[in-house]
Amino acid sequence: MTTAPWTEATSRDLMNVGGRLANLVRGEGSHVWDDEGRRYLDFLGGIAVNSLGHAHPVFAEAVSRQAATLAHVSNYFATPPQLELAARLKRLAGTGESGRVFLANSGTEANETALKLARLHGGRTGRGAILCLEGAFHGRSTGALAITPKAAYQEPFAPLLPGVRTVARSIAALEEAFAAGDVAAIFIEPIQGEAGVVELPEGFLRRARELATENDALLILDEVQTGSGRTGEWFAFQREGIVPDAVTLAKAVAAGFPASALITFGAASDLFFPGTHNSTFGGNPLASAVANAVLAHIEDTDLLANVTARGAELRAGVEGMRLVAGTRGAGLLIGIELDRPVAAEIAQEALTRGLVVNAPAPDVIRIAPAYTIGDDEIAEFLSLFRDALAAVADARPSEVPA
Ligand SMILES: *Cc1c(COP(=O)(O)O)cnc(C)c1O
Repeated sequence: MTTAPWTEATSRDLMNVGGRLANLVRGEGSHVWDDEGRRYLDFLGGIAVNSLGHAHPVFAEAVSRQAATLAHVSNYFATPPQLELAARLKRLAGTGESGRVFLANSGTEANETALKLARLHGGRTGRGAILCLEGAFHGRSTGALAITPKAAYQEPFAPLLPGVRTVARSIAALEEAFAAGDVAAIFIEPIQGEAGVVELPEGFLRRARELATENDALLILDEVQTGSGRTGEWFAFQREGIVPDAVTLAKAVAAGFPASALITFGAASDLFFPGTHNSTFGGNPLASAVANAVLAHIEDTDLLANVTARGAELRAGVEGMRLVAGTRGAGLLIGIELDRPVAAEIAQEALTRGLVVNAPAPDVIRIAPAYTIGDDEIAEFLSLFRDALAAVADARPSEVPA
């Protein structure tokens, strides 16, 4: 590969936190274009963010209309878009009257807010431990990092928040973790996106709900990746028939505009009080108006039905392809399991062919396309992905499947 000017600028000017794959200049629907005019089918969707694809008229119109009306006023003031968003999120989450919403700007911040909620609750009950799951990803701030038990992420920044325990993804381990009687809260992703679209054991969330209730602990769900309709329901917990004490949202909620939320249910709604938390940008009218427009569009056009249907088509479509061992996930958050650890090579081959996917684990390809995809995008994906798989399989003919 030749070195383009943008790669030099990247390594010279951007903080050295990771590589950039291409220099993208434009997007439309499920496609993006780079600075040399190359077109890519974007099935990563900005890491499960671009729920309406790129440059959707509803998104563009909401940004420009609200930017030309009122973009920012600080948290000293309420605004109509903010009030509308809070009411909408309460309705979609099914909190009833007693729910409350804190609006922020990123998934990390929403989880940081949830950690403070857990601390406030633990202060009341005298039980201070916070549980997270093996494989969890909750963000990179020092608080959210403390409940993201990955050595490579944590070690350079130790010591982190004390009182955190990591629980294996089994019901037995969950029961043992609560048996100590010291738990303030447990953080759970209903499907662990960053770990490789890892699903929890059957009944795990329901058991967590029971144990949290019995132990006066908060069940806090991180739906930053699974929420906002990604799984075909507004929230993944709605697939399990349980109700959490709190849930966080971000990624797809405003389809690419930075926005996030912590939604509380019942008594957890009364833990924060004035002076305990806030954000300058959080809940600004611009972000809130975009989230409202996006969520209303998803609702009005019944896009969640498309998420479910297209997810099933994609999973059926990749079954039986070379190197593919199976699929997991829900809706349009899909992990394609490989029979050997070649996910990084496949993602690279796909990119070369004009397809964006990623490799969250050595043997998993993740796709999280726009909710708006149709027959054409699916056909294009299946064709490009099949070619990328074949290229990797042909390059390593001697390798035996795991
Ligand atoms: C992406 C992600 C986060 C972090 O969100 P940011 O917006 O990057 O801060 C937290 N939790 C989960 C489950 C995520 O997928």
